Amino acid sequence: MNIDTKALAEKYGTPLYMYDFDYIENRYTTLKDAFAGKKSIVNYAVKANSNLSVIAHLAKLGAGADCVSIGEVNRALTAGVDKYKIIFSGVGKRDDEIREALQKDILMLNLESEAEMKRVELVAKELGKEARISIRVNPNIDPQTHPYISTGLHENKFGVELDMAKRMYIYANKSEFLNPVGIHFHIGSQLTKLSPIQEAASIVADLVRSLKAIKIDIKFFDVGGGIGVVYDDEVTITAAEYTQAIFQATKGLDITLLCEPGRYMVANAGAFFTKVLYEKVNAGKRFVIVDGAMNDLIRPSLYDAYHKIEAVGVDANVETTPADVVGPVCESGDFFGKNVPLPPLSHNDLIVVQSAGAYGFTMASNYNTRSKPAEVAIQGGKDRLIRKRETYDDQVRLELEYLGVMG
Ligand SMILES: *Cc1c(COP(=O)(O)O)cnc(C)c1O
Repeated sequence: MNIDTKALAEKYGTPLYMYDFDYIENRYTTLKDAFAGKKSIVNYAVKANSNLSVIAHLAKLGAGADCVSIGEVNRALTAGVDKYKIIFSGVGKRDDEIREALQKDILMLNLESEAEMKRVELVAKELGKEARISIRVNPNIDPQTHPYISTGLHENKFGVELDMAKRMYIYANKSEFLNPVGIHFHIGSQLTKLSPIQEAASIVADLVRSLKAIKIDIKFFDVGGGIGVVYDDEVTITAAEYTQAIFQATKGLDITLLCEPGRYMVANAGAFFTKVLYEKVNAGKRFVIVDGAMNDLIRPSLYDAYHKIEAVGVDANVETTPADVVGPVCESGDFFGKNVPLPPLSHNDLIVVQSAGAYGFTMASNYNTRSKPAEVAIQGGKDRLIRKRETYDDQVRLELEYLGVMG
């Protein structure tokens, strides 16, 4: 990508998120093409980056959406995703969310417990509708990733065990208000090894075979998301390896393959721009204080995640020394990187935090009454705003009317 980062930072201000839409398109088509010859839907995991323009960009390319709240379902619909390509996942759904999803006639609801299935059945009955459902199976596979983002082991809250899944399918199949059309698993995020995915897919495919044997015809086989990306020097899975492993596991089954990539699609499309406020040294330790903070991009604080950090437009020959790049928020955990080799920096120098397109803006908060950053898209060499910078007025809007009416 050939963009003038400095000009962008000038034009839109900092802190700022920038997404390369051509990169996103390339990722989508690479993955979709790797499914060639099979029925497939790539359901973009909206939670990774739910900006309407990002979703709309993917929708135009033919992507579906994987949503984890009715809010995300509505974002997907607003952005133009075909309703029959929208799935609603997540471990807990309110009745009103279930009702709205059924009324909006999306492809299916992914269920994660027997109790949830009973709620969905009840709501569907009230509406006089048949709910298309899928059950999230927990195949008890160690995804060999960060424990915070591992979801496929029995000890965590996601999905149901194989036996339970089978009982649920038998129940759903008999119910007048449930139609079990899919099966689902998602074993974790940032997966860089193929074998856990392949193992999980094989286990779940066997369950599909045993269900088909008792006339429960599963049509959608959803392998979840989680394809790992390169933040640093990781060696990760290619789209072709990924789909070949899935083809292998599902051999002989007449099904539509679904996957739910989030990070894969957008992480490396994005960058976070922040400006240097000043430097300081405490007890010999160097700190670069910037205008962005953990409320804008929390991954380093939350997961100790690595993001490559670079100073823009600095002479490559200048000697670097290690510095912690920190924000103004009142928490020791407010950092983007530790011991980052950086040249001497001064006020208004621009810093780019790379690979910030996934779980960046979507995890942003207003902590310390900081307004959320603006978001910009780059497409075909042109930049455009896709979300305005939030203002103080935006932040207090829902509180102001209550001022002065205390008892
Ligand atoms: C978070 C999540 C995804 C996306 O994960 P990535 O690692 O971003 O690909 C997909 N499916 C489900 C059910 C999820 O919870």
